[in-house]
Amino acid sequence: MAAKENIDSANGLVEVEKGVKIIPGGNTIITTIDKLVNWGRLSSIWPMTFGLACCAIEMMAAGSSHYDMDRFGILFRASPRQADCMIVAGTVTMKMAPIVRKVYDQMPVPRYVIAMGSCACSGGIFKTYSTVQGVDTFLPVDVYIPGCPPRPEALIHGIIKLQEKIRKEHFKWSRWS
Ligand code: SF4
Repeated sequence: MAAKENIDSANGLVEVEKGVKIIPGGNTIITTIDKLVNWGRLSSIWPMTFGLACCAIEMMAAGSSHYDMDRFGILFRASPRQADCMIVAGTVTMKMAPIVRKVYDQMPVPRYVIAMGSCACSGGIFKTYSTVQGVDTFLPVDVYIPGCPPRPEALIHGIIKLQEKIRKEHFKWSRWS
């Protein structure tokens, strides 16, 4: 039963959550396209399947039945054409960076990037000429997850942060945005 203060007495609409109203008994929801698109998008994040180093083991663990990321609508995809999220899990070498960027460029927009682990965030312990000192030097990173390695719970926390970010997007469904 909806709280009394959420009922708009002028037109009988009931606000079930911020920005979402229903007509009781009318099988009708009233909201914005932003809210609808963002909800669909954040509930079906499909990360690209690839790993670069030890952090990828934690990412695989997060995808296993014990942590069950499927419950968030997260399904790993084997093709960049079907993925909208890149989880950079591991050390990125200078040699590997152009290949990672190429995979990112093959993903359809809108797309998101998570830097998982100290190596992806900042180069980590590898302060060497051959290691990229943070993937944000060649990719637009949305969420950083520190740790060496971050546990699966930390990755899930990072994905929830990404969902919060997507929830606030405005007009990103439009070809004119
Ligand atoms: S952050 Fe640590 S665990 Fe992750 S790839 Fe780098 S060295 Fe490996």
